[in-house]
Amino acid sequence: MKIIRPQIAKYIIEVYFDSWFSVHKSNIGIISLWIRTPAGLGKVYRCPRCDELIPDRELGGDFVKCSCGWIGFPRELVGETLFKLNIPKWAKKLAYFVRKMEVDADIILRRGKIPISIIEAEMVARENPKGGELLDKARKDEKAIYTKQALIKDLSSGMSMEDAIAAFLKA
Ligand SMILES: [Zn+2]
Repeated sequence: MKIIRPQIAKYIIEVYFDSWFSVHKSNIGIISLWIRTPAGLGKVYRCPRCDELIPDRELGGDFVKCSCGWIGFPRELVGETLFKLNIPKWAKKLAYFVRKMEVDADIILRRGKIPISIIEAEMVARENPKGGELLDKARKDEKAIYTKQALIKDLSSGMSMEDAIAAFLKA
């Protein structure tokens, strides 16, 4: 039986900034991609040739094969990626990943000095049943989450995805 949980996004796009976002300059950030699975969070890599998403759980053997025909070693896949962009370009970059994930993603912004991220809390919760408390705390503490539902609501009101994400970044 397939359990459908439409309220929970399949993917997470995590962006880490080392300082508060400035609307007036370019901001350096690192993007990490994650997938929620019944076994917990898994990392998502990208094909170095076509940028297709390749979840961690599909990496078992010595070689990775992408649907574009690229074959290589797992270490050649693209993981964390650093960008230095202004707000409109960050919005465009994040919209690119959201579309790649078929609008089934939460965006989480981490900034310097946040004690625990929701990602770390989910990792703890996976390994320790009591970690769920930490996850609840992280969800409460974490201010900068743009959920899939919030994005879909903004899109249905007529905003473009880029404008919606830019508004989130500036909030
Ligand atoms: Zn590829």
